[in-house]
Amino acid sequence: MKINEKLHLNQNLKKLNGKYLETILEYINNNLFAKTKAKLKVKKVFNSSEKYEKKLEKEVAAILKLNSKQRRRNVKKSKDTALTMFTVITKRFKRNANVIAQVLTKAKAKCKKCKKTAPFIRKKDGTPYLEIHHKISMADGGYDTIENTIAVCPNCHRELHYGMN
Ligand SMILES: [Zn+2]
Ligand SMILES: [Zn+2]
Repeated sequence: MKINEKLHLNQNLKKLNGKYLETILEYINNNLFAKTKAKLKVKKVFNSSEKYEKKLEKEVAAILKLNSKQRRRNVKKSKDTALTMFTVITKRFKRNANVIAQVLTKAKAKCKKCKKTAPFIRKKDGTPYLEIHHKISMADGGYDTIENTIAVCPNCHRELHYGMN
């Protein structure tokens, strides 16, 4: 596909409502291409950022298993490649602004996990920077309520999601 065609396709995809596009893609790939191994070309439209992150993580993990010589060779090869853009259709849970504000206020600038003061002040409004974490993630059926959320510093938040327990 030529660059112009790609741009054109991208622009058209952006015009479509994400929800419908996802349904259309699903339908096409499940039905029209069901009997073949073919997939619609626009499969580079990821269902969610998370899906893409996971794919990327897998790639990195595989590359980390290579020796340093192979890795250097890979990097050299990819140095001059053009940037590629693709559309990510994001599906996310609607958040409750009242809960966020209340949990942040109740935290009094302290992380609920490490008990330290928020690491910095928000440029936007001068408030201490903490993030809201769901004890049971909304993807797992947890509610966006005061009972199910805690205010944590960004380090602890990352640890809660990516750390070893
Ligand atoms: Zn913390
Ligand atoms: Zn979280």
